[in-house]
Amino acid sequence: SNQNKKSDIDMDKYIIKIEDVSFVYPNTEKVVLDNLNLEIKKGDKIGLVGLNGSGKTTLIKLLTRLYSPTKGRITLNGIDIKDIPLKQYSDYIGIVLQDFYLFAYTIKENIILDQAYDQEKLEFSIEKSGLSNFIDSLEEKEETYLYKEISKDGIELSGGNGQKLAIARVMYKDTNFLVFDEPTSSLDPIAEYDMFWQLYNIAKDKTSLFISHRLSSTKFCDKILVLDNGKMIEYGTHEELMESKGLYHELFSIQANQYLKEEN
Ligand code: ADP
Repeated sequence: SNQNKKSDIDMDKYIIKIEDVSFVYPNTEKVVLDNLNLEIKKGDKIGLVGLNGSGKTTLIKLLTRLYSPTKGRITLNGIDIKDIPLKQYSDYIGIVLQDFYLFAYTIKENIILDQAYDQEKLEFSIEKSGLSNFIDSLEEKEETYLYKEISKDGIELSGGNGQKLAIARVMYKDTNFLVFDEPTSSLDPIAEYDMFWQLYNIAKDKTSLFISHRLSSTKFCDKILVLDNGKMIEYGTHEELMESKGLYHELFSIQANQYLKEEN
């Protein structure tokens, strides 16, 4: 139909709307997301926080169309995202998950994947992801193979470098909408904060969702959404949420204390 034409979606000023969205996993009973409403405008930097099991990753699964809402809908410029061809839709979203896949190819191929090759963009992505020093230390640079399947000189990346590679990959894909789902969990809290802050600055005018169970990492976001048992219980800036002394304030204070203890 007409509404599926690429030209109909103006990605220069888009709005994603989560409208009365509820979700129950197939063959289960639990309401994992409970009547969520949220408007995401171009350039917004939104933090999504909540305890483990509160529904953060599930919301990302709906946004990336791994599942459809049980109730309600998600729209992009008024069009239900399920009516947009999947290939086209996936070109809009860049996502860095905690479980990213590394292939037994070169570092370069792991960054480019199915996108067109562009040396300048490759170098930019490597630099922005913080991988430059590591890659420079390798004899074969970005032509170094991962794992031993193809090359006996293949290497294995540390958790931190693997995550940086996943970030370089999403930078390279250069989408309008970025999702970082705890991509930095193998880093310590301070390194995670630094990485999120760096991503925030790289993302500039791109729309970004920052997901973490560490509240300190998303402090700088324009808006923070607090999920509790699938419900959006608080939404505001870090300052506003601290002021209102709800769950966010409580979790933030507990975590800040923990990190102080870890350091001592
Ligand atoms: P978070 O990302 O905040 O830790 P999740 O979205 O992963 O939370 O999980 C929310 C709830 O959904 C939890 O109760 C979890 O057990 C449940 N859940 C997650 N994935 C599935 C699944 N594939 N099938 C059934 N229940 C699931």
